Amino acid sequence: MRVTEEDASDDDAGSEVSQHDEACAICHKEDECDMLLCDGCPKAFHLSCLGLDKVPSGQWFCAVCNDGNT
Ligand SMILES: [Zn+2]
Ligand SMILES: [Zn+2]
Repeated sequence: MRVTEEDASDDDAGSEVSQHDEACAICHKEDECDMLLCDGCPKAFHLSCLGLDKVPSGQWFCAVCNDGNT
C-alpha cells in the first residue's frame, strides 16, 4: 500500500503580524479615522483623544509604554 502525499504546504511559519486593537483605548470607539497605534503594545488611540493634531513621525509609544522604564 502506498500513500501519495499531496502538496499540502502549511505556510504559517513565523508569521509576524502586528495585531492592534481596532477600538480606541481611551474612548473605546472604533472609528478608524486618525488612529495612532502604539509601537510598544497593541493599543490604538485617536489623535483627538490624545490631544494631538497630527500623527507623530517615527515611532510612538503610549503613556503606559513610556511609563515602563522607571
Ligand atoms: Zn478615542
Ligand atoms: Zn503602548
